[in-house]
Amino acid sequence: MQSFDYEQRNVKECEKKKNKNSKKYRPIDWSFYPTLDEIYNWLDLIIRKWPNIVTGFNIGYSYEGRLIRGVRLSFKPEKKAIFIESNIHAREWITSAACTYLIFELLFSRDYEVRRMANRLDWWIVPVLNVDGFVYSHEKERLWRKSRRPISDCGCIGVDLNRNFEYLWGQILGIKHDPCSDQYGGTHPLSEPEVEQLTKFINSNIPEGSIKIYIALHSAAQAILLPWTHTRELPVDYDRLMYVAKAFADAVFSRFYTKYRYGTSANILKCEEYYGTSKDWAYAVKAIPIAFTIELPGGGRKAPFELPKGAILRVCLELLDGLVGMIDAIKTLEII
Ligand SMILES: [Zn+2]
Repeated sequence: MQSFDYEQRNVKECEKKKNKNSKKYRPIDWSFYPTLDEIYNWLDLIIRKWPNIVTGFNIGYSYEGRLIRGVRLSFKPEKKAIFIESNIHAREWITSAACTYLIFELLFSRDYEVRRMANRLDWWIVPVLNVDGFVYSHEKERLWRKSRRPISDCGCIGVDLNRNFEYLWGQILGIKHDPCSDQYGGTHPLSEPEVEQLTKFINSNIPEGSIKIYIALHSAAQAILLPWTHTRELPVDYDRLMYVAKAFADAVFSRFYTKYRYGTSANILKCEEYYGTSKDWAYAVKAIPIAFTIELPGGGRKAPFELPKGAILRVCLELLDGLVGMIDAIKTLEII
């Protein structure tokens, strides 16, 4: 198995970044898409100001040596956990913007339902998992999707990190084994440092069995996607998962009449050759009872990943509504 010399590269990269950190950041107000530095600066601020509730954590380092960071929000001790992983696909900027909004509302909302939701769970949130790809998409190529590790020989760069998880990896053959494909899954399961360290972090830092909800936040299919991704066969507790997904969709609809579809990934996306996704790993390997991909809305057929800035706040509000409805439904099932 390939190993990465994280430590040496990391020290160098960190020093480089510290020197650059004197610039001013725009305050996050959901009128624009924040950069990685802006998100991290904002996380630092809330960790510093609300240390009793917010704790920062580090997943590890990306291929290019950037820190992959998250925050844990705990309002009441001993709660079951929700884990939210976001921006695994670099160009899906709305996902990290929505994560910061969710964190903000969890901390400051005075709405009774939001407060109740915040108190019900221990929140682990990683706003940007694919940090290298995200920075590249901000600085060089807006529609970049994969990570940034060069793949030897072919000159192609990057792995689709959401095809690199250790569940049925590589059992389904096809174009996804072409390193130049946008959905190339890597050389073996967990071959990518971002995914390997995420799974290691979850396995070693969060007590086994305490995560009851796993959300992979994506755009732009406007849908709640259940397992499975590799087959159109339905998971055993399909009815229960659909009940929870419908609760999300109904709650979203109630504000601006936005319709989210819901169903299994393979059936909604009409595709059954995806493998190694985080949601299927969470559901099958980690036995997390509610494991969803939530696909936020996009900017229309011509520019699905370029949701206009003016729509950020609407999508954020809807995500919050959806989560309130969804977590109420999960509560009735006595999963949390
Ligand atoms: Zn995606």
